[in-house]
Amino acid sequence: MNWISNYVRPKINSLFSRREVPENLWTKCPECGTMLFHRELADNLMVCTNCDHHMAITPRERFAGLFDGGVYTQVKVPAPVVDPLNFKDQKRYPDRMKAAQKTTGEEEAMLVVEGEIGRTPIVAAAQDFSFMAGSMGMYVGNAIIAAAQRAVELKRPLVLFSAAGGARMQEGILSLMQMPRTTVAVQMLKEAGLPYIVVLTHPTTGGVTASYAMLGDVHIAEPNALICFAGPRVIEQTIREKLPDGFQRAEYLLDHGMLDMVTHRTAMRGELITLIRMLSGLPPEIKGDLPAPALGPDAEATPELPDAAKASPDPASPAAKPEGEPAKAKGPAPKSGEKPADTTTGTAADSGADTAADTGADTKGSPA
Ligand SMILES: [Zn+2]
Repeated sequence: MNWISNYVRPKINSLFSRREVPENLWTKCPECGTMLFHRELADNLMVCTNCDHHMAITPRERFAGLFDGGVYTQVKVPAPVVDPLNFKDQKRYPDRMKAAQKTTGEEEAMLVVEGEIGRTPIVAAAQDFSFMAGSMGMYVGNAIIAAAQRAVELKRPLVLFSAAGGARMQEGILSLMQMPRTTVAVQMLKEAGLPYIVVLTHPTTGGVTASYAMLGDVHIAEPNALICFAGPRVIEQTIREKLPDGFQRAEYLLDHGMLDMVTHRTAMRGELITLIRMLSGLPPEIKGDLPAPALGPDAEATPELPDAAKASPDPASPAAKPEGEPAKAKGPAPKSGEKPADTTTGTAADSGADTAADTGADTKGSPA
């Protein structure tokens, strides 16, 4: 009897319970308590379909939704010294690292990749809050430097998604050294004239907001993200005053001039594409399914669509339309164009002067 109740029954129970617990099929929204089906939640980029609460998302999940076709290549990050201080609190630092690596399946708290979004090549880095609270240690410093170097090498913009509880205290002063190091990395981008866009996600705090997360050309935040150096609790205890509602949240910071915009996660990709293309001097993204990108040399001189279409209906070949991108390598063209002024006036305002000269030549040629 003992053997049955103590050994056999638990075994049987465990077998059955294991089968009937579909635990990871449903996720409970921490904000409104709605049970959300995991696939639906993943399709909505981990945003609650009921209350729009933005849940934590891993770098890989984010990149899968961000890059064209979910395709990206990981950029190698040099590994730093392991546990230089021989640090120990309740657990040894290397043990904590191993535990975090096991639960997340990631090497460290930041993932650097390269790929294309809306056919715009970029380098991207994302911090993983589930890995030791996304804390900034030497690896994260190395990752940002690697990302900046790769961006400079490929002449691409860098997009960084921040999420951090601050510096990694297990690395002591060495983690704080990452603030100047990453600042220098950002400076490399600026010197190369490359856009650096920061997307601040919940929560971005501590030394991260005192360095690379606040040095972007554009700062976008996800709704209701906590973004601060010292948290609201600490401030409240220090100044002994009640803080206003939504203090240090994304919308509050937008109102007070700390951010450029607050963007819903599902609209983030489109917003980033628009911004990056604008900052890089590229024409707007072409929406819809496109055929293979390369179209041959004649596509290169194709002018911007609207003016060409209304000026001369016949030469505006529909096949060449989507290929707006490479229309920039026409340096001396506008000056040498000897056409009269009337043709250029219509186009010069909204498109580049070089393409305007081209359309001028076309429109002059074809009707006459
Ligand atoms: Zn919810």
